[in-house]
Amino acid sequence: MRVSKKVASIEPSVTLEISAKAKALKKEGKDIVAFTAGEPDFNTPEYIIKEAEKALYDGKTKYTPTSGIPELKRAIVKKLKEENGLCYEEANIVVSSGAKSSLYHALCTIVDEGDEVIIPAPYWITYVEQVRLAGGVCKIVNTDEKSGYKLTNEQFEGAITEKTKCVLLNSPCNPTGVVYSKEELEGLAKIAEKHGVEIISDEIYEKLVFEGEKHVSIASLSEYAKNHTIVINGVSKTYAMTGWRIGYMACPTVEVAKAVAAMQGHTTSNACSFAQYASAVAISGGTEFIDYMSAEFDKRRRLLVEGLSKIDGIRLVYPKGAFYVFAKVSAFYGKELDGQKITGSVSFADALLKCGVAVIPGLAFGDDDSIRLAYTVSCEDIEKGVRGIEKFISRLA
Ligand code: PLP
Repeated sequence: MRVSKKVASIEPSVTLEISAKAKALKKEGKDIVAFTAGEPDFNTPEYIIKEAEKALYDGKTKYTPTSGIPELKRAIVKKLKEENGLCYEEANIVVSSGAKSSLYHALCTIVDEGDEVIIPAPYWITYVEQVRLAGGVCKIVNTDEKSGYKLTNEQFEGAITEKTKCVLLNSPCNPTGVVYSKEELEGLAKIAEKHGVEIISDEIYEKLVFEGEKHVSIASLSEYAKNHTIVINGVSKTYAMTGWRIGYMACPTVEVAKAVAAMQGHTTSNACSFAQYASAVAISGGTEFIDYMSAEFDKRRRLLVEGLSKIDGIRLVYPKGAFYVFAKVSAFYGKELDGQKITGSVSFADALLKCGVAVIPGLAFGDDDSIRLAYTVSCEDIEKGVRGIEKFISRLA
């Protein structure tokens, strides 16, 4: 059987490849510190698990409305109003099987064949593949250390053409951990308005912000932004619920929400019924767990940043959100480890893995000069991993 051209053109996931190698080495008994997992290493809080159990015993095991159960939509509407200053009706909300699905369904709903979608790099690789699958054309804009890995107003405006449909923003960002300020988002919102560009705002890491940083939803910054943004969010990262597969989007109009639901109705249909009931309770269940988890992540972030900053040749843009550190390692390209030459982020990550530390090559995020380290591991492992990186670098010749 021949695979379609569309699917055959999907790049194999570098992330999965290196994670699989790390797993295989662990299985062989090798001691590996894996900075690879893009998910919290915490258990889902018990009050959420109990609600899922209750839902199962209560027979909430049937199809639900495609766009989500009213209880969950109500909780989302309340959350968006109280935490993000965004007023929506329940009819504007569509619940999907994870934010990844929300994103794909949003893209399929608004992007026509050949429409351009502006994506700042480094980016979450899924954006690129989803835009392509949706028939769009990725317009990648490379950001750098100078702008703190943020899309500047000039870059944004310079990337807009008559074919531009939308821009995909992600703050806090995977893989860089940077958080856009209100002023920066206001600037981008004004440019979007000037050129009639739509916005998709992926806010999945909104609760993981540190050092007094505040997450701001671009949709809250102007009437235009509210009326032209699809806000994407979910419970995966906030409540350690990655496996539950519940994401959602807030659509600017009921028409868009209905269009998404129509599309979703023929693909995934409703998200998992009992996970929806549990998510409603998660979202309205207070901040105790989030406060605990984010304090832990903050501790680890400081430890990892401090450790990496001490290594000569590694450069960082200080991360203030999500659970990633994006480290520039191109100073080591051209060097060798036991005869293996390091030519880019993939060979760097490969060689480092042989020394017991797994990281994701920046190439997976559109930046071959860097690597991504997720601090979804214990403080002990972070210390051990940093020592491993130091040792690896000292062996490079
Ligand atoms: N957006 C970003 C930037 C992510 O990193 C991820 C997960 O890694 C998602 C969305 C998807 O989250 P979900 O588990 O809800 O599909």
